[in-house]
Amino acid sequence: MLLQSLIQLLFPIQCASCAAPNVELCDICARAWRSKVQVGRVDQLPILWSAGYSPLTSPIVLAAKEDNHRRSQIILAEALDRGLAEARRRNWIDANQRLYLVPIPSTKQSNRRRGHFHLRSVIDHMTSQVIFSDVLEITRKVVDQSSLARQERHENLHGAYRVRPTCALSDRTMAEIRQGVLVICDDLVTSGSSLREAVRALKVAKISPEFALSACAAGAF
Ligand SMILES: [Zn+2]
Repeated sequence: MLLQSLIQLLFPIQCASCAAPNVELCDICARAWRSKVQVGRVDQLPILWSAGYSPLTSPIVLAAKEDNHRRSQIILAEALDRGLAEARRRNWIDANQRLYLVPIPSTKQSNRRRGHFHLRSVIDHMTSQVIFSDVLEITRKVVDQSSLARQERHENLHGAYRVRPTCALSDRTMAEIRQGVLVICDDLVTSGSSLREAVRALKVAKISPEFALSACAAGAF
């Protein structure tokens, strides 16, 4: 008992979202991640997301990304899994096809600063059978989107992504990807600018995503 108290004191457990004590994620915060999977569209692309972006959900998104917080990454991964389950229920995914998850790319500087590529860290925790397909890269300087207005976000990102040159990605891999189901994946979608740019860049490489999947979204694209 004494040892347990000491461990509690040294490594206090608290809700990853609201910091309530003695629980990794409190019931109130957990509920925000268990709402019905939502469906929308960003231009022509259908999108599924599992939680609304709110003061309850945003700390988890931030902790997973900026602090490499494992419990938060698992919550986001579960949200993505729930989105995929909904896609299966809607017959958007054929059980025999391979499922390629293409993450929205981050800048090399962000990955270096965080010490990890945050979407990889999330996708690695998913239980669904997916193939992590890091085919997109950022080709020029972009600024952090969070402080930008809608039109500025579009301008900031337009033409900024590309499919990695074939030296990194073999023709065989590309052919396989074209035969499978390709899903663009993000942790948070706000204006949809990143998704639009990803669709544009994939289209240049003659790849058509089936839909987009996000753990969390603001829902006004
Ligand atoms: Zn909480």
